[in-house]
Order: sequence, then structure tokens, then C-alpha cells
Amino acid sequence: MVGERPLCSHCSSRAVFLDRESGAHLCSRHLKESVEERVLSRLMQEESLPDILGVAFSGGKDSTALLAALAALKDKIPSRLIALTVDEGISGYREDTIRHAKEVCNKLGVEHRIICFTGLFGRSLDEFMKNSNRKACTVCGILRRRSLEVLAEQEGVRLIATGHNQDDHAQTTLMNAFSADIKKVFAGSGSTSRFARRIKPFTAVSEREVTLYAILSDLFMDLPECPYAGEALRGEVRGLLNRFEQEHPGSMRNLARAEEGIRERLKGKIQYTPMETCKICGWPGSGEICQVCILLDKH
Ligand SMILES: [Zn+2]
Ligand SMILES: [Zn+2]
Repeated sequence: MVGERPLCSHCSSRAVFLDRESGAHLCSRHLKESVEERVLSRLMQEESLPDILGVAFSGGKDSTALLAALAALKDKIPSRLIALTVDEGISGYREDTIRHAKEVCNKLGVEHRIICFTGLFGRSLDEFMKNSNRKACTVCGILRRRSLEVLAEQEGVRLIATGHNQDDHAQTTLMNAFSADIKKVFAGSGSTSRFARRIKPFTAVSEREVTLYAILSDLFMDLPECPYAGEALRGEVRGLLNRFEQEHPGSMRNLARAEEGIRERLKGKIQYTPMETCKICGWPGSGEICQVCILLDKH
């Protein structure tokens, strides 16, 4: 019949997703199972999982899907989940996403903790930006990272799962190639025992699948975009890669894998600059005074 959706390759239900690379059609149940299997397999690559697994939970679609997938796997993983949300204080945008975040946690039965810039730094992001000529995303990135670390420390969280998906990894790989700054790219900012470790369970899950997972879990909500917008370069790379993937299915996955492969091969070969301890706040940083204290004008 014209317009009727094809059947799932694994059962007799109607398909909701076509894996263009393998040609497999998947129904709602099998798509969700396939996503959850990949998340579980990523988690199982860890030597051991801690008692508490923190989930960086902005309330957006990626972290919503991640929280839902982890909650669906609760009988298969030993860790208790805690959703960690940072409220940056962005008016006209954050109110809706925070409300959505609370609803999602209620629905999934996951503990939820929120930390806000105003409480921690005395100012919201909007207030920080009033007298700043720095890029909002840079300022926000620095403060959000610290907020998440503080919240994780308060909650005894030593491992934080983030919602980065396969497309994000592919974009990062290409952006890294464009900038050719291997050290900056793969050495990261270094880590110390004070920072919680990060894990990205959606590394092998495409953005299309993540979005569909959120929709099929009945947790998708069309939320406003951040008024400070995103990185311009990433947007361009995203468009470019999406067009390329359309023509050559599988490219996105290969590019994302390339990033993991390079990272794996560079392990132990890059000299990390040891982090210093900030003279003012005592948190690890890249100089005598950390980026957060510089932003707070404490120096
Ligand atoms: Zn099926
Ligand atoms: Zn500091």
C-alpha cells in the first residue's frame, strides 16, 4: 500500500527508523533496545562502575534521552543515578528547560540536583555578560564546568555521564583536523583527582537516534534555543557533515570512531602539563589563578 511504513527487520511491527548504512528497518521497541545495548556496552568498557553515576542533565534532548536510556538500564548497572543540572541564569530560556528537567526526573524516578550560577558565583550568566566583552559560550563553559564539579563533589559523584552523541564526536574530530592543534585537542585541559571522570555513553549513537529515542520515550519537548547561540564553526561543520552523511552513509560513524582511535593511540604519549592549584579558591587550574577566579575578578 502506498505510504505505508515498512515492517521492522526483527519483528512484525511497523518500522520507525531506517539505518541507512545497514538498510535495517527498526520498530520503536527494537530501536530503543538497540540504543540501550550500545549505551550498556559503552558502560561495560569501564573497569568498574561506581555506586553513584552522575548524569550531566541540561534538560535538552540529548541529556534527556541519556537519562531515559540509563534509567531503562537500571537493573543491568550497579550504579544509582543522580541527574545534575546547572542553572546558568539565562532569562527566557532556562525557566522552560529547568521545568522540563524536573518533570523528566519525576517521570523517570531519578534523583535530581540543581546548582545555579547565582548561588555559587553571586551572579547569573546574564549578569556576567552585562559587563563582559568575552564570548558568552566561553564564560558559560568555564562556569558551568566548575558548577558541575562542585555539585558532583557535594553529591559524592566520581563519574559523570554526558549526552554527547556520535555526531558531536564526528564534528569535533573534523574541527580538530581543521585546527590541527593535536595537543590542545587530545590532551584536553588535563585532569586531576579532584575532578570527576567523564564518560560519553552515546558515542556510538547518532543524533537522529538520540532524538528519536527521546520522542519514543515520550520525553521530547521542543524547547527554546539558548539566546547566546552556539559555536558558529560547529554549526557550519554540522551542516557540512550532515550533507556528506546523506551522500555517504556511515561517514559520521567512521569519523567519530577515528577520534576514539586517535585518542586511544595517543594515550600515554602526550605530556600533560600538571595542573596547578588556584591560590584563591583552591580548585585545580591551568595557572596560579584559575579561570573562574579571573572571571569573578578575584585577582
Ligand atoms: Zn521490531
Ligand atoms: Zn580559583
